[in-house]
Amino acid sequence: MISMRNVDKHFGELHVLRDIHLEVPRGQVVIVLGPSGSGKSTLCRTINRLEPIDSGDIAIDGVALPEEGKALAALRAEVGMVFQSFNLFAHKTILENVMLAPTKVRGKKKEEARKHALALLERVGIANQADKYPAQLSGGQQQRVAIARSLAMDPKVMLFDEPTSALDPEMVNEVLDVMVALAKEGMTMLVVTHEMGFARRAGDRVLFMADGEIVEDTAPETFFTAPKSERARDFLGKIL
Ligand code: ATP
Ligand code: MG
Repeated sequence: MISMRNVDKHFGELHVLRDIHLEVPRGQVVIVLGPSGSGKSTLCRTINRLEPIDSGDIAIDGVALPEEGKALAALRAEVGMVFQSFNLFAHKTILENVMLAPTKVRGKKKEEARKHALALLERVGIANQADKYPAQLSGGQQQRVAIARSLAMDPKVMLFDEPTSALDPEMVNEVLDVMVALAKEGMTMLVVTHEMGFARRAGDRVLFMADGEIVEDTAPETFFTAPKSERARDFLGKIL
């Protein structure tokens, strides 16, 4: 579903992604771990070409990522992304936020988009907030809206970059629960997170990154109980 081959990227002198090879099959949940600055966000952002790469190949569902234009917009729509900050449109209601892209980008009829949006809000547990504005919701609720908004485009893949890092602790689980449900429904997911409980519970696989390289690529249990590299042991020693 996600295929990266020989992917390299620099920011000036800094080599942020070093010869990345990654094959994520349909329905797999991949957890990305690693110290700050190791390239986790950059990896996510290259997958939908928010960041260009220097060399290598990236394909989604067998289709190479185009450089630009309509083909890129179409492919990007198939890759949902949820960030630490929710970035909802402040002057639109929750329902309008979720309906916006399907009507504007996909040309979906309003009534159809509305029904789908309400069903998605139901799925993330906030259908009763549909007519409120983002500022009237808690952080956890806003992040669930952001997830619903991504799902409204029927993505084939969902990328999450530290989706719970900006939340108060008591709101983390309501967002993780939505993500666990999504994983169980068979969504292909790449998740950068520091939530080790979630990694163990929902992850099929852990990628450990350091200095732009994938240093370990293994089952979560193996990673947490028997990391192979010194760098992974050092990382786990600091966070566990
Ligand atoms: P964190 O855990 O802190 O989010 P990360 O693993 O997500 O870190 P990245 O954000 O991918 O790391 O950054 C990798 C490296 O690239 C860092 O050294 C960062 O400073 C650098 N970097 C990221 N974005 C840019 C940019 N737009 N221009 C220049 N350097 C950048
Ligand atoms: Mg990051």
